Amino acid sequence: MKTLIVSVVTPDGPVMEAEYEMVSLKAENGELGILPGHIPLVAPLKIGAVRLKGQDGTDKLAVNGGFVEVRPDKVTILAQSAEKPSDIDAERAREAKKRAERRLETKQDDIDFRRAQNSLRRAINRLDVVENR
Ligand code: ATP
Repeated sequence: MKTLIVSVVTPDGPVMEAEYEMVSLKAENGELGILPGHIPLVAPLKIGAVRLKGQDGTDKLAVNGGFVEVRPDKVTILAQSAEKPSDIDAERAREAKKRAERRLETKQDDIDFRRAQNSLRRAINRLDVVENR
């Protein structure tokens, strides 16, 4: 089975680099399934889970925005933040979710509303990744 090198980097530094058989992620244009030999592309990412299928099972990451660069033998994810399930603090995510929900209940200007929506999406994504690892 052919494999791809997957490298995930955030402003805080590298998160992981390993070989996988398939990468599934949420690009702005829709779900992307990447196998070895994929045509080169760069695409913006949504807040979502990245699924990495390897020989020993599937790994997941909670990724918050950024870009994916695909080459035939390598996938590089440059994200604002990216966490492995074992690095996610579920209690912190639950608190962030509650905070965002409270902010969304009160009337606010567009920018604050969008900020709260994105904060809610990040928290829900982290909880999804840590609870369904
Ligand atoms: P919070 O309100 O809890 O800070 P946030 O969504 O605003 O959450 P981000 O700005 O996305 O946080 O991330 C800031 C840094 O904190 C990043 O390095 C990110 O990986 C880390 N981080 C955020 N939430 C969690 C969490 N629940 N568990 C582990 N790391 C987290």
